[in-house]
Amino acid sequence: MKANILEIFSSIQGEGKYTGVSQVFVRFFECNMHCVWCDTPHSIGDTTRHYQEYDLESLVKEIDALWTSAHHSISLTGGEPLLQADVIAQLIPHLKRAGRKVYLETNGILPEALQQVISGIDVVAMDIKLPSSTGCQSYWPEHEAFLKIALQKEVFIKTVISSETKASDVERAAQLAGRLDPNILFILQPNYFEMKNGVIQKCQEFHNSCQKYLEDVRIIPQMHKYMKVR
Ligand code: SF4
Repeated sequence: MKANILEIFSSIQGEGKYTGVSQVFVRFFECNMHCVWCDTPHSIGDTTRHYQEYDLESLVKEIDALWTSAHHSISLTGGEPLLQADVIAQLIPHLKRAGRKVYLETNGILPEALQQVISGIDVVAMDIKLPSSTGCQSYWPEHEAFLKIALQKEVFIKTVISSETKASDVERAAQLAGRLDPNILFILQPNYFEMKNGVIQKCQEFHNSCQKYLEDVRIIPQMHKYMKVR
């Protein structure tokens, strides 16, 4: 097994429902999307950037070296970690044996890869990628198939709101989520780089429209950027 990893580090979760908990982050190399506002551009296939190849033993060893009783879970992040689902499938039994919770941060467009690993995941932090926000194509069927699988475990949804985000995209995402589980936590995440461009006001407008379909809608920014941590 060879895992392509950008970095392994201990830090504070800055997004979503578990904002503020300590985690050991394993950042997988490469992504299958190219969101215009991506804050980890080294994850999108620029092979001139440095990444390290790990075998299973060295990966487990480095995670164990960082883990303390203060940590909530291991965050598998990226890039898109599910591009290396085979690696995750082999890593999970080791994490479970050591009593670690597994937290998956994902763009939510690879349902088959999720199916491969879902039994060992504790929390799925799933993005819904709105085409008007990302500048990419839409992935509605993929997101729907993905969420159906993720609902076997604890899952919440984040969607980034930028100055370009269209109300129709947000409404479609809320409808999609609400059809499958109206009680799922749905987070509108204002784009950090556009805080002065009215994105908070946009989030407030979208909050109202989302509540037609969902019980629990919140506006939460990326707190790690304010805390100046990774
Ligand atoms: S899905 Fe995430 S890692 Fe991939 S390009 Fe978009 S923001 Fe970057």
